Amino acid sequence: MLIDLREFLSGPKDKLEMTASLGLEQVSAVYGCYSFKSKSDITFSIRKSSKDEIAVKGFGDVVLIMPCDRCLCDVEVPLSYEFERTALVPCTDIETQEDQDYIDGYNLDVDRLVYDEILLKLPGKVLCREDCLGLCPVCGHNLNEGECGCDREVPDPRMSVFKDIIIK
Ligand SMILES: [Zn+2]
Ligand SMILES: [Zn+2]
Repeated sequence: MLIDLREFLSGPKDKLEMTASLGLEQVSAVYGCYSFKSKSDITFSIRKSSKDEIAVKGFGDVVLIMPCDRCLCDVEVPLSYEFERTALVPCTDIETQEDQDYIDGYNLDVDRLVYDEILLKLPGKVLCREDCLGLCPVCGHNLNEGECGCDREVPDPRMSVFKDIIIK
């Protein structure tokens, strides 16, 4: 959601408290693109910290759908996020502009702020359950659903670690 800050900055109020729905449909990260199972409204406040500077603070939570690292089935991953930033408005300095890419002219892009936080919070490892058996490296069958009958014997125990990497 884009919030036009002009009225607030020229108005008498020092602080604005709002809730807004999260406009993001998905999150694209290095290892994939994830959609949302659910998302709460974003609760946030905007405060004037000086004549041309604002402080933005907010929080919310989402449930992302991410694939299990081993068997690739959908896993619901709940994430809470918080953000707290100060920004110059409007910003004319190019370098600062890059730093605060969630502000364009007088518009505050709250979705962008949340997006950055979610990216930082993405878990490094996602498992549908701790003891997920993964996929058969021979035929690709999901071993959580039962045996496929392939011969997967690996004589060297160190290879089983390697196998885990291949499955990912
Ligand atoms: Zn799994
Ligand atoms: Zn198999």
